[in-house]
Amino acid sequence: MKENKQKLVVILIGPPGAGKGTQGTLLAEKLNLYYFETSKILEMSFQSHSETDFVEIDGTKYYFFHEADSWRKGILCSPPFVSYLVQKKIKELFEKDFNLLLSGSPRTVFEAEQIMPLLEGLYGKANIKVILLDIPPEQTVFRNSNRRICQLMRHPILFNEETQDIKTCPLDGSALVKREGLDDPETINVRLKEYKERTMPLLEYFKKSGVTVNQVDGVGQVAEVFQRVVEAVKL
Ligand SMILES: [Zn+2]
Repeated sequence: MKENKQKLVVILIGPPGAGKGTQGTLLAEKLNLYYFETSKILEMSFQSHSETDFVEIDGTKYYFFHEADSWRKGILCSPPFVSYLVQKKIKELFEKDFNLLLSGSPRTVFEAEQIMPLLEGLYGKANIKVILLDIPPEQTVFRNSNRRICQLMRHPILFNEETQDIKTCPLDGSALVKREGLDDPETINVRLKEYKERTMPLLEYFKKSGVTVNQVDGVGQVAEVFQRVVEAVKL
């Protein structure tokens, strides 16, 4: 990053299957942002810790195996645990002069209360843009139950007319697979409920703290939606 480059943090929120992964990847590339995907940070932390590992936050122990178990069932991980990992990573990236695209964080008001002051302090409130990528609930279930990711890099492949017949990742050629557990119909319903009950109140939080939220219609071709997202970031 050049010294005089403007600081920018884009936060993408939206129901499961809204296309946060796809749009986030594109936007990160276009604006040269570090694609900060909380699910990836969580999954990597689960892989790199053993059953007995934990972090202690305010006197409570959070075990990685227990958090991993919630994760696989579609339940959100303990907010203090997520927040701890996310804050650690944000500080690391800021030190390296990265601008950020956050997809999947903050996901709860608790997490926002922890993360937003940190982001505002480092990047400045005016440089934080929240994009709500919205799709109707029936689309959520449909898209998630058909979603695939690539084996090599976990690139998300949304299900639509353009992608339904492809068998390999357009970016790296590796095989496309389903995300085990997370995209099963039952798990999707749990995730949708979690979104309504725990993520939606975030909008109120942003409003109160003076952070602008721009809503983008997530229905349509990838390129169309991307155009809307790019416009929304400029607002
Ligand atoms: Zn790939």
